[in-house]
Amino acid sequence: MSAPVAVAGLRSVLDLFSIGIGPSSSHTVGPMRAAIAFARSLRGLPVTRLEIELLGSLGSTGVGHGTPDAVVAGLRGLDPGTCDPAEVHGVWATLGDGSPITLATGTVVWLRTTDVRLCPGVRLPGHPNALRMRAWPGDAQEPIERIYYSVGGGAIVEEGVAPAVRTVSVPHPYASAAELLELCADQRCDIAEIVRRNETAEHGAKALERGLAERWIAMRDCLIAGLAGHGTLPRGLGTPRRAGALADSLRADGVALDAPEWLQAYAIAVNEENAAGHRVVTAPTNGAAGIIPAVLHHHLTVSGERVGGGQHSAGRTVARDTAGIVRVFLLTAASIGQLMARNASISGADIGCQGEVGSAAAMAAAGYCAVLGGSPAVVENAAEIALEHHLGLTCDPVAGLVQIPCIERNAIAAGTAMAAARLALRGTGSHRVSLDVAIETVRQTGHDMSHRYKETSDGGLAVTVPYC
Ligand code: SF4
Repeated sequence: MSAPVAVAGLRSVLDLFSIGIGPSSSHTVGPMRAAIAFARSLRGLPVTRLEIELLGSLGSTGVGHGTPDAVVAGLRGLDPGTCDPAEVHGVWATLGDGSPITLATGTVVWLRTTDVRLCPGVRLPGHPNALRMRAWPGDAQEPIERIYYSVGGGAIVEEGVAPAVRTVSVPHPYASAAELLELCADQRCDIAEIVRRNETAEHGAKALERGLAERWIAMRDCLIAGLAGHGTLPRGLGTPRRAGALADSLRADGVALDAPEWLQAYAIAVNEENAAGHRVVTAPTNGAAGIIPAVLHHHLTVSGERVGGGQHSAGRTVARDTAGIVRVFLLTAASIGQLMARNASISGADIGCQGEVGSAAAMAAAGYCAVLGGSPAVVENAAEIALEHHLGLTCDPVAGLVQIPCIERNAIAAGTAMAAARLALRGTGSHRVSLDVAIETVRQTGHDMSHRYKETSDGGLAVTVPYC
């Protein structure tokens, strides 16, 4: 048994793929969790008044991302993984001049719409996504104040509190792709097995299996729901839902299941569900949530045997040993997401869309390459190819909504991920630019990028595309 050690700052697979609600992991799920944490910290206090400021990027695009609604829901103790999304959306505006809300602690407080304020011009040094929360207990003149940062993928950090570090007995800690490849060589196993052993040490084998299965079911359910989606996405931009009509036309034309159009339909389906604020799994964020499910579902659909008879319904398609394919795919993909989150960022507000869609494409490329039989070196190559060709990708959502360019971008990135894996599989794994170098380049590029292209809607498509 190995001694307890920090897992080198790596996130757990079950955290990277967390079940939540749309439309944004950093602007919806993270703020919701911050509000839950703040409300719980007030346990036992006779709170009479609350004030929440959404700072930086949360202030810039918070309304479009449903951040104020998420904060109110979090204060009430609603969990993003289990709540009914319908209970979250639209609540903030209905508070008006004051409405009673029951905090997670059971205390009832009157909250006004104006008590949750958007402050886009205030940027704290800790992270572009910040929430300042204040509570007044009883007649206190001075409030209790806490600051939280939503650092990407739904994770939060409280200012002044060291981020929780995973300190578990893991047999194979690693902090870079190079170290991961060395471990694979030493242990004579693939990347998924290294990750599985580490995660098993933390969660136990059964909980890990159950956790992965739950996440895949949630991803697949989201995809299936999206393929039945018609009409228009919410929040005023008037973006039409395309996945339902696209799937209908592919079926009507008898387009084969291995066609890239199906892959695109799957990714669009997931991201339209996300944009609608429905149940979605971070992969590694909400904005990039369609790429991994699309590639994995496409692979299972094409390689698997159909059950349930009849025609393809985008759901009842099961490969031989589907569970094994899902396990290898998700664990391999997660290792790339862990390294991106640790050594660069997976937050669009931090380093632009290269951190979200770029990360997801690299993760999907790795997972797909692994289930096609790629060696660890070839898998690393696949992830590197996918990431390298998302370098410099900006985050510029029109109207601050996770719709344009996000939804279609996932469809294109899913294709890039599969192409990267197939290209890598034609090689030996030997290549000039390592994944670690690509990740470091993403970090530096993101650092140099103007804040206008980091989820502020102050540049790019967000200002060149007219809307009203
Ligand atoms: S442009 Fe990319 S990073 Fe920005 S909100 Fe859309 S998916 Fe997320």
